[in-house]
Amino acid sequence: MTPQVSKKFKGPVVWVAACALIDADGRVLVTQRPKGKDHAGLWEFPGGKIEPGESPEQTLVRELYEELSVEPCLDCLEPLTFASHAYLDFHLIMPTYVCRQWDGFVRPTEGQATKWAWAEDIVRLPLVPADVPLAQQLAARLPKG
Ligand code: C5P
Repeated sequence: MTPQVSKKFKGPVVWVAACALIDADGRVLVTQRPKGKDHAGLWEFPGGKIEPGESPEQTLVRELYEELSVEPCLDCLEPLTFASHAYLDFHLIMPTYVCRQWDGFVRPTEGQATKWAWAEDIVRLPLVPADVPLAQQLAARLPKG
């Protein structure tokens, strides 16, 4: 299912893939957008822009390694939902996944803050707007802390 972008929207459509890494206790990794990026200071599920020719899963394998030094295997990525959000200057389409298995330990490479948190606590963080419904979905299905 591909989300619809309103025909009235004239700005660019940006495709991003995002992923909720879930540890063995059911806590989820969120990262804080660093200074100098848009939405700096807000928390998000890690991911990044889908490059031409990449599948969303390939984007996540690349981005999670570049940003966090962890490598999910392609088969470990389970589709969660297709998020869609109209930001002021672009429309974001964001296939999102959950992942419970990866290689490596989380080591942020861009100085960004990270935290493992219960989904019920993530919904109370200042999140990038597109990620709010995702956090709510996870809070409804993951264990409480
Ligand atoms: O990380 P990057 O700057 O490539 O992300 C592109 C856009 O997608 C940014 O505006 C960012 O806020 C948004 N984004 C988001 N939710 C995520 C990841 C990125 O809304 N989980």
